Amino acid sequence: MAFTLSGDDARQITHPTPIPHPYWVAFSSSAAKLIDLPLSPDGYPEDPAWLDLLAGNTLNTNGHQFSEPMATVYSGHQFGVWAGQLGDGRAILLGQIHGQELQLKGAGKTMYSRMGDGRAVLRSSIREFLCSEAMHALGIPTTRALSIVGSDLPVRRESMETAAVCARLAPSFIRVGHFEHFASLQNSARLKELADALIAEHFVDCESDDQPYFKLFGEICRRNATLVAQWQAVGFCHGVMNSDNISALGLTMDYGPFGFLDRFEIEHICNHSDQAGRYAYHRQPQIMHWNMACLASAFLPLLELNHTAEESQTLLRNALEQFPIEYAQTWQDLFRKKLGLHSSEDGDIRLIERLLQAMHDSKVDFTNFFRNLSKIKKDQHVTQIALRDQFIDRNAIDQWFGEYLQRLQREVLGDEARSAAMNLINPKYILRNHLAQAAIEKAQAKNFAETHRLLKILSRPFDEQPEHEDYALTPPLDMSKIEVSCSS
Ligand code: AMP
Ligand code: MG
Repeated sequence: MAFTLSGDDARQITHPTPIPHPYWVAFSSSAAKLIDLPLSPDGYPEDPAWLDLLAGNTLNTNGHQFSEPMATVYSGHQFGVWAGQLGDGRAILLGQIHGQELQLKGAGKTMYSRMGDGRAVLRSSIREFLCSEAMHALGIPTTRALSIVGSDLPVRRESMETAAVCARLAPSFIRVGHFEHFASLQNSARLKELADALIAEHFVDCESDDQPYFKLFGEICRRNATLVAQWQAVGFCHGVMNSDNISALGLTMDYGPFGFLDRFEIEHICNHSDQAGRYAYHRQPQIMHWNMACLASAFLPLLELNHTAEESQTLLRNALEQFPIEYAQTWQDLFRKKLGLHSSEDGDIRLIERLLQAMHDSKVDFTNFFRNLSKIKKDQHVTQIALRDQFIDRNAIDQWFGEYLQRLQREVLGDEARSAAMNLINPKYILRNHLAQAAIEKAQAKNFAETHRLLKILSRPFDEQPEHEDYALTPPLDMSKIEVSCSS
C-alpha cells in the first residue's frame, strides 16, 4: 500500500530537500529486481535521472513520476516509556512501484522532524544498507535497501560528518507505532482505515474471516515472534526495539545501533546508549512480546467494534499468550537445525541450552562455532573435536560433545548430508561491526570499494568463499568493542 490514509492528521505531503552534487555510494542490483529497474553493465540504473531521484533532488525519472511524496505520522513507546507523537522525521515516502514502497531516509526535514535535521550520515546509511541486504540474504524478513547516494553536505553529529540518503523498499513501512498513534488519539475511524488497508494489501486471508481484526492481530504477532526467533538464531541484536521501530509486516526495520554477536554473551548490549540493557540479546524475545502488548492495547477499539470490552480484552490476551509458544516453536526448530538435528527428541532443548550456556561461559564465537560444528563426524572421538579447545571447562564440554555425538548417531542423515544442511542455516559471513566499520572509514575517504565488496560477500552468507576467509574471522578483542550509538 502506498500509505493510503489521506488527511493531514495521517500524513503530510513533503518534498525532499535536495543535496548538493550527489554521487553513488552503493547500489543493490538485487533490490533493484524488486522494482524491475533496468541497470547498466556497471550495476547502476540505466536512466541517470535515478541518481537525482534517489538523492531527493527530483521526483521524476523517464518512467516514473512521484507526485505526492509524504511523511507519515506515528507515535510509540521508546525504551518502555510512552513518547507521544513521532513520525517520519527524516524518511520521505515517494510512492509505490511494483508493490514496493520507495522511501528515502535522510532526505531532509519533515513536519515530524522535531529537533532533528532530517538527515542521515554516510556512516549510518552504510550500516543500514549493508545490514538490510545481508539480512535478506540470510533469509530473514527485512525492509530492503536499494541505494546510498552521498553528498559532501556537512552534517553535525558527535563530530562533523557528511550526508547520505538511503533508499529503502518494503511492501509497507507501517509500524506498531502507526496503530498506537490513532489509538492514543481515540480515533477509531482512522484505526479502522489503517487496519482495513493493511488487510486489503497484505493480509488478504483476514478479509474473509468473521473476526478480521482479531485475525490480523494474531498474524502480526506470529510474524514478529518468528522474526525475533530468527534474529536469535543468527545472533542479531536490533538495538532499539522501540514500538515505533517494529513493523506491522514482521520485517526487520530501522537499522541503527544494531550488532551481530561475535563472542557469545547472552546479555550482550549492542547500543551503548542502552545502559540498562533493555534491548540486550537475551531480552529481545520478551521485548518483542511487550511490543505486541502495546499493539494489543491499540487494537482494543477495533475488537470492540464487534465485541464487548471484556470479550475484546480476553481475545487479545489469549492471542498474546500465543506469542511465547510461536516464538519457542520457531526457536527450537531453528536451533535443532543449527545443530544438525532433523528428528526431534525430548532432550534436545536441554542439549541446546547447555551448549549455549557453555558458549556463554567461554565467550565462544557464535557464528563460527555453529559453522564449524558441521565438520564433526558421527563416529569421531570427543578428543578429536578441535572445537573443544575453545572452551574453558574442558570436562563439561567433553561431556556435552559426548552426548551430542550419541544424539547424532540417532539421526538418519549421514555426515555429508547433515553437514550440507547445517551449512544452509549456519552462515559463514555476517555483518560484523568491525567489517562495517572498515568499510565506513574507507567510504568516508571516498573509497567505496570495501562497501561494494562487503555487499557481495554478504549476499552469499552460506557459501564458502575461500578468497574471503578473513571476513569470517572473530575480530581481535579491541575491535569487537566498537561502540555504536543511536546517533545516525
Ligand atoms: P529512531 O531512533 O531512528 O527510530 O528515530 C526515532 C524518531 O526520531 C523517529 O521519529 C525519527 O524519524 C526521528 N529522527 C531520528 N533522527 C532524526 C533526524 N536526524 N532528523 C529528524 N528526525 C529524526
Ligand atoms: Mg525509527
